Amino acid sequence: MSFCDISSPTHSMMPFEDAMSRMLNSISPIEDRENLGLEDCLGRVLAADIQSPLNMPPFDNSAMDGYALSVEGSQSITTLTLIGTALAGVPFEPIVGAGECVIIMTGAKLPQGCDSVVMQELVNVDDNKISFKHPIAQGQCVRTCGNEFKLGEVVLKRGDVMSARHIALIASLGLATVEVFKQLKVAIFSTGDELVALGQPLKTGQIYDSNRFALIAQLKKMNISVLDYGVIKDNPQHIKAAFEKANQQADAVITSGGVSVGEADYTKDILQELGEIDFWKIAMKPGKPMAFGRLSQSLFFGLPGNPVSAMVTFYQLAKPALKKLSGATPKAPLRLSATVTNDLRKSVGRLEFQRGFASTDDNGVLSVSTTKEQGSGMVGSMCHANCFIILPRERGNIAEGDQVMIEIFDNNLME
Ligand code: AMP
Ligand code: MG
Repeated sequence: MSFCDISSPTHSMMPFEDAMSRMLNSISPIEDRENLGLEDCLGRVLAADIQSPLNMPPFDNSAMDGYALSVEGSQSITTLTLIGTALAGVPFEPIVGAGECVIIMTGAKLPQGCDSVVMQELVNVDDNKISFKHPIAQGQCVRTCGNEFKLGEVVLKRGDVMSARHIALIASLGLATVEVFKQLKVAIFSTGDELVALGQPLKTGQIYDSNRFALIAQLKKMNISVLDYGVIKDNPQHIKAAFEKANQQADAVITSGGVSVGEADYTKDILQELGEIDFWKIAMKPGKPMAFGRLSQSLFFGLPGNPVSAMVTFYQLAKPALKKLSGATPKAPLRLSATVTNDLRKSVGRLEFQRGFASTDDNGVLSVSTTKEQGSGMVGSMCHANCFIILPRERGNIAEGDQVMIEIFDNNLME
C-alpha cells in the first residue's frame, strides 16, 4: 500500500472516488463460513449461490377462486357440468372431461384435463350447471409449473445480503439452512483526553464521547459483532496496546479522533509502526482526514473526531469497505434527483455530503432542504436528516430551485 502523506508539502486532496476504489481494491472478502438456520440469517451474506431445488411453482395451480376447465373441451358447449372440488392441499384426482368443470380454490392443483380457470365472479351457477359470461382465454388464471424458476436455476448469488425479501424466497424453496460467511467482528475505540463517559459530570474542557455510540449503532445495523474498547487516552502506550489487542480479536478496527496532524494525534505514528497505513486527505466535506490500512490480521479505519465527520466517513467509506470484507457484493448507492428548497453554501474543491430532509408532494415530486447548521461538529444536522445531499467537487453555491442529487439513508423495513 502506498502513501499519500497529509503532512507532505506536495500533497493534494485525493478525490473521494479514488479513495473509495483504492480501498475497495485492496480488500478481499473473509473466507470463513457457517451453516445457519434460515431464521438466523437476517443481514448475513450468502457464501454460495442458491440453486432452486424445485420448479416454482412446483405444480400447475389456480391463481383464483373459480372453476377449472379445458378451453378446448368447452368450446362449443355453453353450459358445463360441475363434477367436484379442488382445494389447496386437497387435489381433485379424476380426469376432467369435455363439458365438465371443477370448483377450484386459489393454490389448488389444476386437475388433469384442465388448462384454465374462470374466476367465480364471472360465472352463472344453476345447481350443478355452470355457464360463463365472457369468452375464456386458454391458460387464464393458471400459475404454471416452473413459471417463476426452473429446477436447478440460480435464484440467489453468493454475496447477496439476506433481507426479509431474500428470506421469503429461500423459505418458499423449502431450504431450512443457508451457507453464509461468518459474521464480521469489529473492534472500536475513541481516542481523546477530553472525552468523558456518558452519565458523568463534565469538567472544564471536556465533552462526552458520542462517536463510539453513533458508530456502534451503525455497525449493529450492519449485523456486525462489536468489540467495544471504550475511550483510550491520548497516550501512545495505551493506543498501541489497544491496537495490538484489536488486531488479535477482530477482522477490522475502527477508531475516531487523533488522525489529524495535531499535538496529540498519535494514531498515525503507531499504525506506521504496527502495520501498513495510508493517510488520506480526502476531497470531501465533512471528512477530510481519514486513515485506512491494515494491521497484520485486521483492516483499520481511522475516522475523524468531529462527530458528523465520523458518521459520514463511516457511512460513505468504511461501510462499503466492511461490506466488501463481509463477502457482500458491492452495490452503487441509489441516488435521486431532487429540487432543493433553500440556498446551499458550497465552495468549489470538495465533494460535499450535506445533511438533508427529503419529501414528496402530492404528485410524488421530490424536494429536499438542508437540516439546520451544517458544521461538522453539529450532530443535530445529522439526527434530523433522512438523506445526504451530494454536491460534486466542482460545484459552487446552489440556489433554491436547483436540482441536486440525494441519497436516502437506508432504513427500509424490507431490509
Ligand atoms: P481530533 O480528530 O481528535 O482532533 O478531534 C476533532 C474534534 O472532534 C475535537 O473537537 C474532538 O473533541 C472531537 N471528538 C473527538 N473524538 C470524539 C468523540 N468520540 N465524541 C465526540 N467528539 C469527539
Ligand atoms: Mg483528539
